Amino acid sequence: AKEAGRNTYHFFQPAFAEQAQQRLDLELALRDAIEQQELSLYYQPKVCAKDQSPQGFEALLRWNRPGLGFVPPDRFVPIAEDCGLIGQIGAWALAEACRQIACWEAAGYGSQQVAINVSVRQLIHDDLAGMIREECERHRISPSLLEVEVTESCVMSNPEQTTPVLEALKRMQVRIAIDDFGTGHSSLAYLRRLPVDIIKIDKSFVQEAMSDKATAAIVKTIIELSKTLEMQVVAEGVETAEQAAMLADNGCDSLQGYFFSRPLPPEDIARQWHAGPAL
Ligand code: C2E
Ligand code: CA
Ligand code: CA
Ligand code: CA
Repeated sequence: AKEAGRNTYHFFQPAFAEQAQQRLDLELALRDAIEQQELSLYYQPKVCAKDQSPQGFEALLRWNRPGLGFVPPDRFVPIAEDCGLIGQIGAWALAEACRQIACWEAAGYGSQQVAINVSVRQLIHDDLAGMIREECERHRISPSLLEVEVTESCVMSNPEQTTPVLEALKRMQVRIAIDDFGTGHSSLAYLRRLPVDIIKIDKSFVQEAMSDKATAAIVKTIIELSKTLEMQVVAEGVETAEQAAMLADNGCDSLQGYFFSRPLPPEDIARQWHAGPAL
């Protein structure tokens, strides 16, 4: 076994080194990304399940690396979390989302609800409530237009520290959504005590529900649970009319996914999703 281990080590060493180098390159490039204005937010609409009217937008980070194109957030967010850059990037995303809400308001598009994704580090190490208050004041928008999406594993990993932050946000009327619901190690007893407004059913369940009975049952159970806890329930990753109909029939409140729209840059959102200003 030792012999095999040594051979394996030699065999894989170049690949490991290459991966580590790639990661380091990415980290170094990411350090400049904010200053160089390479980051942006795209917005994905959320619609009412009953009549498919727009109900707000989720802001999703995009990183356009010069000469290399878009790096997916699933690739760079974990690196930003590891190397401590997520605080800066998250602060930028919050400020940018608030600026966008104010900009849409000023353009006559009304007050739009926008959700931002927040990492556990931001909940624990940053004064998120204070930062939100400051940005909302700066842009003269109501904190009630903001929604914060946190994953259940993020909240449950450290409930003593995350719960008071969520409670502070709740007092400011920021809405709180539990993202990727069903994938983490959730404690239902604990969920009941969290100041949560919205549960987002993870897209993996939505996508399997049409072909797998057990998954369909899980989706129905999550919807029922949300009703019992008096929370709104949103399904993400809706790609087909059949999925949308099944979710609406089972009482899901809101839907999000490529079937309605991909995440889009703000100009396209204004063109395709906001009613035109009264000119
Ligand atoms: P998430 O918050 O669960 O976001 C949903 C992801 O599903 C997004 O990927 C979205 O583009 C994608 N999606 C939406 N509709 C569909 C669909 O119908 N089918 C499929 N297959 N996918 C769909 P994206 O934009 O690549 O973001 C990936 C993840 O990166 C996010 O997952 C979130 O965890 C993280 N992320 C994105 N922006 C931020 C941010 O500003 N801060 C933090 N901390 N994380 C972020
Ligand atoms: Ca999300
Ligand atoms: Ca999600
Ligand atoms: Ca996710």
